[in-house]
Amino acid sequence: MNIRQMDDAYVAHTYARFPVELVRGKGSLVWDAAGKQYIDLGSGIAVNGFGISDDAWLQAVTAQLQALPHASNLYYTEPCARLAQMLCERTGMQRVFFGNSGAEANECLIKAARKYAAEKHGPDCYTIVTLQNSFHGRTLTTLSATGQDHYHELYQPLTPGFAHIAPGDMDGLRALAETTKLAAVLIECVQGEGGVVPLEAGFVQALSDFCAKNDVLLAVDEVQTGNGRSGQLYAYMTYGLKPDIVSTAKGLGGGLPIGACLLGAKVADVFGPGDHGSTFGGNPASCAGGVSIVSRMDEALLEGVRARSAYIFSELEGAPGVESVTGLGLMIGIKTQKPAREVVAKCIENGVLCLTAKDRVRLLPALNIPMEQLKQAVAVLKAACAE
Ligand SMILES: *Cc1c(COP(=O)(O)O)cnc(C)c1O
Repeated sequence: MNIRQMDDAYVAHTYARFPVELVRGKGSLVWDAAGKQYIDLGSGIAVNGFGISDDAWLQAVTAQLQALPHASNLYYTEPCARLAQMLCERTGMQRVFFGNSGAEANECLIKAARKYAAEKHGPDCYTIVTLQNSFHGRTLTTLSATGQDHYHELYQPLTPGFAHIAPGDMDGLRALAETTKLAAVLIECVQGEGGVVPLEAGFVQALSDFCAKNDVLLAVDEVQTGNGRSGQLYAYMTYGLKPDIVSTAKGLGGGLPIGACLLGAKVADVFGPGDHGSTFGGNPASCAGGVSIVSRMDEALLEGVRARSAYIFSELEGAPGVESVTGLGLMIGIKTQKPAREVVAKCIENGVLCLTAKDRVRLLPALNIPMEQLKQAVAVLKAACAE
């Protein structure tokens, strides 16, 4: 059996894989089992923020692997404390809970919101409002938070306590608040899996005002948008928000599994010992990766993200076969005349890896992708759209 046959035979069929077997990578280049080279515009779905096996990251992580790869949360370890401090200092949040994935970060966010609301407003205050077309994860509860019915159909009964409104529908939110006690509103500033759709600034501001006025927690899912991807450290900063809770994951560890839930002043002390936990959460290797990544997210890096973003928009907007381009920073969705999956297949044939989201082609390149490689890859993508 070759690897594809073995995978098809033994790995659960939860993914529609592209017909490529990847064996190694460096920066924004990656090679398959036949030795073919690709320029990577997907970063392992926004994970390899500084590219694959970035030198400084590799050094930080391997040093930690040699010193102490895992200790459990029964003991103090330096990378966990440092990463938490760094995240708080950069965001103004007050404490961090670490898990291993975006879904786990959102589970913590949901539990924090529920506990805060129950203690402050009573046991019937638990409803969390999310948006239609959102995506918050694959666990049963984060799936329940996700505002897309097609994810729900086969998994009834879902976790109760979630309500969904359309993006922009402040009247819907106010009507809901008449009949239901609201614990929190949870948004993605740019709906990633939903097709790379940024929320309108006016709506986000109105939401924020509504939450502040009604003591409803404002929670932001920065699992995909976070860690420099948007052109700011977190996308909510672009919108001028002051959220009460933020979840993040994907790009935080630079390629290792990690999730984080950032707790603002209102919820900083909502959890005590035993209220929540995760065996691998905050493990030293992943946190050492996170420290390496976040410590290098300075203004020059973020300016580079915005410049690369502007380049991609200017090349693709109005290009033949391209209907529209949406997104923020290096999180870009392209509506193409041809089906997105066909465009992506053509790109793979011509040595470029990109992704899809709904009916769009989705680009999530490394934040530091060399301009020369980006230009080459965008040329291949443009040709695939135009064909
Ligand atoms: C990917 C994603 C998640 C889920 O993250 P996992 O690490 O796959 O659990 C949650 N929210 C958003 C916005 C995401 O993009």
